[in-house]
Amino acid sequence: MIILVINSGSSSLKYQVREGDDVLAEGLVERIGEAEVPDHAAALDRVDGEVATALGGRSIDAVGHRVVHGGERFSEPVLIDNEITRAIERLNPLAPLHNPAAVTGIRAITEKWPHMPQVAVFDTAFHRTLPEHAWRYAVPDELYRRFGIRRYGFHGTSHAYVARAAAELVGAEALTGIIAHLGNGASVTAVRDGRSIDTSMGFTPLEGLVMGTRSGDIDPSILLFLMREGYSEQDLDALLNRNSGLKGLTGTNDMRSVTEAAESGTERAQLAIEVASYRLAKYVGGYHVAVGGAQALVFTAGIGENAAAFRSAVVSKLGALGLELDEDRNSERSKVARAISTSSSAFPVLVVPTNEEAAIAEATADVVSRS
Ligand code: ADP
Repeated sequence: MIILVINSGSSSLKYQVREGDDVLAEGLVERIGEAEVPDHAAALDRVDGEVATALGGRSIDAVGHRVVHGGERFSEPVLIDNEITRAIERLNPLAPLHNPAAVTGIRAITEKWPHMPQVAVFDTAFHRTLPEHAWRYAVPDELYRRFGIRRYGFHGTSHAYVARAAAELVGAEALTGIIAHLGNGASVTAVRDGRSIDTSMGFTPLEGLVMGTRSGDIDPSILLFLMREGYSEQDLDALLNRNSGLKGLTGTNDMRSVTEAAESGTERAQLAIEVASYRLAKYVGGYHVAVGGAQALVFTAGIGENAAAFRSAVVSKLGALGLELDEDRNSERSKVARAISTSSSAFPVLVVPTNEEAAIAEATADVVSRS
């Protein structure tokens, strides 16, 4: 089955065409809304042109959409119809930047190819198994009932994919362990018997770890303090989502630059790595307790897969759990799933490459062939 995987942003559209493990085409259309590409329909025409050349006469069988927010309703991928599209649209307030773009993408495809099967794959779905004591915030119940304020968690497609691959690597039927997805956005998930039971992102992707440009956990009173100092809602949004994290601490959001600067002795870069790795190590300790004893710690995504120095900074703080890295294995450059711990480590530390497009395509093919 030939699947077109689409990740719609408000001004961009990322796509990949897959047939099983083969990537037949991929690309990115940017600056949607500007003169050359006025809307998502125009972006799609461009994708169609690029894809047609690559497919040489064959055609797409189904489309899989990455949808950031599935709210409380969606715990797995679904075949899209008008009602599902409206349900995703109703979740717009919970993901004001992402869900409207996904809906626009879905409608553009419906318009262009009315009979094309489309599947929505939700970033929140894997975390629908969180127990209530993990997803509740200790605030009045009214906030949950009126606004849906609770922990949802994100990066679920990646965490689920990596959980399966890690289980395979350690020879377990299902993973009981901790997965650190460290990209520009970063989150860590506690997995027991293959199911998510806690995760560091919350009501929005802002909570939890130190990220490229997001602060992760902070005292909410800081917001109240800054509001009294005259900061507006927009100021606070930009401050915490776009100008904090590694960028706030060092001036750059890119971990590669930060690690290079740290190695050449820049103190602010060294401090940023300490702050970020310490935060993650604390979560790993907590989630080790949550899962009742992890059987693996897994690193994935851009930083998790490539930043050996950062992995080392994290694991060096986890001696209390009996974890020990094999520094040779850790610094090896490789694109395959592998263990990077010593044989005497209390449980293995793994690097498992994530592949959200493959996971979305697989889920799409699965839903379409069952429908
Ligand atoms: P996104 O969340 O945008 O998909 P990625 O998963 O691609 O992000 O991760 C991007 C991050 O990975 C960046 O901070 C980048 O600097 C970092 N990264 C990629 N390669 C390396 C490397 N060799 N060393 C350190 N950091 C790296």
